[in-house]
Amino acid sequence: MPKGTLYVVTGPSGAGKGTLLGRLLAADERLFLSISATTRAPRPGEQDGVQYHFLPRQAFEDKIAQGAFLEHARYVDNYYGTLEAPVEEKLAAGLDVILEIEVQGAMQVHGKRPDAVMVFIAPPSFEELAARLRGRGTEDEDKIQKRLATAREELEQQAAFDYVVVNDEIDRAVHELQQIIAARRA
Ligand code: 5GP
Repeated sequence: MPKGTLYVVTGPSGAGKGTLLGRLLAADERLFLSISATTRAPRPGEQDGVQYHFLPRQAFEDKIAQGAFLEHARYVDNYYGTLEAPVEEKLAAGLDVILEIEVQGAMQVHGKRPDAVMVFIAPPSFEELAARLRGRGTEDEDKIQKRLATAREELEQQAAFDYVVVNDEIDRAVHELQQIIAARRA
C-alpha cells in the first residue's frame, strides 16, 4: 500500500489555522490531524487527548530525551511537539496526516521529511491578526503581545513554504487547501 502524505500547516497564532483545518477535516475521511503534546495549560473546554496531550514540563522533557518527537519547539512560554509514533502509524496505513504547528517545528519537519507538503496560512494583514487574537479572548494582553511579536518573525518566513494560503475569506481558503491536497493525490 502506498504511504500517506504528510502535510505541515503553519502560520501565526490567530491566522485561523484551526478553523480552516476543522472545515477541511470534516469533509475528508482520509485526512487525520495529529494531536500534539504541550506544556501549556488547557483553555476552558479543552480536554486532554482531544485538542492536545497536556503534559507537565518534566514529562515533556523526558519525551524529548527519549527521542519521541518528530519535532518540538518552545513557543512563547511553553513547549509544543509532535509525537512521531502515531504519525508514522497513520502514514504507514496509507492515511494522510496534517500537523498544525508553529514555524520552527515546521522547519524541523521539512529538514527530516523533505517529502512533506509545506503550507503557510497567512492572515490578510498584521492588523487583522491582532484583532482576531484579541477578539478570541483566550489570552491576556501580555500573552497576546508575545504572540504578536512571534507572529512578525513567523510572517517573514513564509517564502520558505511550498504554498501560502491567505485566510481572507474562509470558504475560499478552505477550497484552496482542498485543491492543494487534490493536486497531491492526483
Ligand atoms: P496554542 O497555544 O494557540 O494552541 O498554540 C500555539 C502555537 O503552537 C500555534 O501556532 C500552534 O500551531 C503551535 N503548535 C501546536 N502544536 C504544535 C506542535 O506539536 N509543534 C509545534 N512546533 N508547534 C505546535
